[in-house]
Amino acid sequence: MIGSSIKSIKAREVLDSRGNPTVEVDLITNNGLFRAMVPSGASAGSHEALELRDGDKLRYFGKGTLNAVKNVNKIIAPKIVGMDCTNQEEIDKAMLELDGTENKNKFGANAILPISLCAIKAGAAELEMPTYNYIGKLFGSEPNTIPLPMCNVINGGRHAGQENSIQEHMIMPVGASDFKEGIRMVSETYHNLRKLLKKRLGAGATLVGDEGGFAPPEIKTVNERLDWITEAAKQAGYEKDLVFTLDPAASEFFKDGVYTVGKKKMNGGEMVDFYADLVSSYPIASIEDGLAEDDWDSWVEMTKKLGNKIQIVGDDLYVTNTKRIQKGIELNASNSVLIKVNQIGTVTETLEAIKMAFDNKWTVVVSHRSGETEDSFIADLAVGVNSGQIKTGAPARSDRNSKYNQLLRIEEELGNKARYPGRNFR
Ligand code: PEP
Ligand code: MG
Repeated sequence: MIGSSIKSIKAREVLDSRGNPTVEVDLITNNGLFRAMVPSGASAGSHEALELRDGDKLRYFGKGTLNAVKNVNKIIAPKIVGMDCTNQEEIDKAMLELDGTENKNKFGANAILPISLCAIKAGAAELEMPTYNYIGKLFGSEPNTIPLPMCNVINGGRHAGQENSIQEHMIMPVGASDFKEGIRMVSETYHNLRKLLKKRLGAGATLVGDEGGFAPPEIKTVNERLDWITEAAKQAGYEKDLVFTLDPAASEFFKDGVYTVGKKKMNGGEMVDFYADLVSSYPIASIEDGLAEDDWDSWVEMTKKLGNKIQIVGDDLYVTNTKRIQKGIELNASNSVLIKVNQIGTVTETLEAIKMAFDNKWTVVVSHRSGETEDSFIADLAVGVNSGQIKTGAPARSDRNSKYNQLLRIEEELGNKARYPGRNFR
């Protein structure tokens, strides 16, 4: 198939949801302008592809992205302009070859990714398809599944300026009959939680963290946080329809073999026991990054102990990288993978990571970053590959709701064809 060629590519520096600079790219074909923006992590894994920052302390505290912008405009664009916009694999391959390093160390994943994302959007338009259908065509799937949302209602850890604390406390509306009902359950529970916090702790307790979840500093332990969420769910009338999921982001509180949660110090085995206790006390369906990014032995232990009861998701452990996912499969280190496009840097590699997980009967959770933008691409990605799950923050702030809103549109568009996994997400 010969599609229209890419006429121009232009990058610029814009702001993400935390007010930090990031890269935006405009790509033009005969069908018009296609735009993509790069998200950014705070509790990022150390094995992720490079996020190139300028390091000039006089601009944005060193976080400027002018070098990544320059890499797009001066080096990558001249090579990609003229290519067929429907040839995603060739476009991604050309950028990887031009960069030539294992971790996109030359250009930065933040220079490569926005072009890859723009190409997907342009390719979809060229074939007159919605983006999710075009992703399905590339992936070899028939997109019909609106993912179960994993919504963060209490933020902790680095996303809330707290140390030695579990990062994300989330709810999944498994009892809903479709996405539209699910996101309403989540929103109503979130607002009940706000009311409870305000009534008992004052308005200051309703301030939110990076992903839109509440971040009350006085509610410190994971048990207390889950108790508050349980009460909010009860008041909303959805106690039986929601399950909980956690992302401790354990690399953030792991040092020299010791995990520190609050004042408690634990080794890997004790950390697994800590989660086993939580799982027996609360309806927890999934735990992501319960252990540190290189503590493979403890991951294996956790999967042995809890893998038949809950979903065990690797985020910093795998960084959407097939080499690390392959290792996890061989070791049986988890039963699920979190997928973040900027951890790896191209759509082609992202789809390969998802394929590897599905081929090995793992589940897949498509995810946002704590630093987000208005770009809703990951909603289309989740539907395109039928991931069945998406994690994209609280039902608050437009950087998060842009994804939920896109899923509402896609569900409407798919009509009777739309599936919602509900309780059968594993
Ligand atoms: C996460 O850890 O899953 C997350 C979304 O946070 P960040 O983007 O800061 O890595
Ligand atoms: Mg995580």
